[in-house]
Amino acid sequence: MDTRELVKGLKDRGEIVEIVEIGEENLSDKYAEQDILAINVDMSCTLRCENCEKFFDCRSPARMEIYQRRRMTQARDAMTNIKHKIAVVGGKGGVGKSIMTANMAVSLAMRGRKVSILDQDFDGATIPKMLGVENGRLKIGDSGIVPVEGFLGVQVVSMGFLLASEEVLTWFHDMRRSATEEFICHVNYGHRDFLLIDMPPGTSSDAMNVMEYIPELAGAVVVTIPSDVSQNVARKATLLCRKAGVPVFGVIENMSGYVCPKCGEAVNILSTGGGENLAKEMDVPFLGRIPLDPRLSKCSDEGTPFVYKFPDSQAARNLMQVVEQIEKNLGY
Ligand code: ADP
Repeated sequence: MDTRELVKGLKDRGEIVEIVEIGEENLSDKYAEQDILAINVDMSCTLRCENCEKFFDCRSPARMEIYQRRRMTQARDAMTNIKHKIAVVGGKGGVGKSIMTANMAVSLAMRGRKVSILDQDFDGATIPKMLGVENGRLKIGDSGIVPVEGFLGVQVVSMGFLLASEEVLTWFHDMRRSATEEFICHVNYGHRDFLLIDMPPGTSSDAMNVMEYIPELAGAVVVTIPSDVSQNVARKATLLCRKAGVPVFGVIENMSGYVCPKCGEAVNILSTGGGENLAKEMDVPFLGRIPLDPRLSKCSDEGTPFVYKFPDSQAARNLMQVVEQIEKNLGY
């Protein structure tokens, strides 16, 4: 291999980070005129930026170029007509992230907005069931994958449409990334006011994938429950948003107290105030408390949107206030 090829190869692979010319004007080979000043000893960089856990920390000037070159530009094109993309993050599983996403989507639709949900929680893809469209099927049309349309025109894209409920699929990192790309780059979302993204729990590569791929997220909503354990994880999810440059709209404290439907007494089963504390600590707005309400759970099992069926309940009113605050934040 001649010097030219060797240097070019090293440069392309990011192994040479700095080159200076030594000014031998008459040398015919351009690469022979250059001195290597430093080499990149951190061989862990494979230049596969979309696969890298250091993505948000990386300061390499090559990062944006590589990032743009790959499929991220497709994501931008596919989502160009969505006005606001909002991630719903929850840290721990089971805190009510999906039920909040589904009901926030319906609340927004009740306010006349065009809403889609991207259910990125591959292991717990429950949105189709919660919105009563679990028998729907994603279709492929001329302009890409067509979402399933449900109540009040809320559109859903979810792995739940593709996997039978008794099917177990062990998702490995690359499979998750490919599925994420598919749902972000090849869906025909059309013109929407909002896309709510039900994020995978935790701060794993799944969550990173979504934040890397989705261009210009308007912000994130953090869902937590009052317990300390849950807040610790929600704090990390909030920090991941910060790291990714995604603004945090605020924190929802779900399962915050229980009002007995018979006697009306309010009981703080899981204590209260944790969400508010987290919001204070992270210096983000506290969006509100959603009490435990058995009808919320029943509605989601039956596939009926709770906020629509029980608009006067405390939980529905508080949820409506949450979406009002989000809209206000976005200038509505
Ligand atoms: P996650 O998406 O965070 O894993 P889910 O939204 O699937 O959590 O909620 C977990 C379970 O808790 C569901 O069965 C849901 O119906 C129930 N649930 C969540 N929030 C409430 C609430 N405020 N009142 C009653 N049940 C709730």
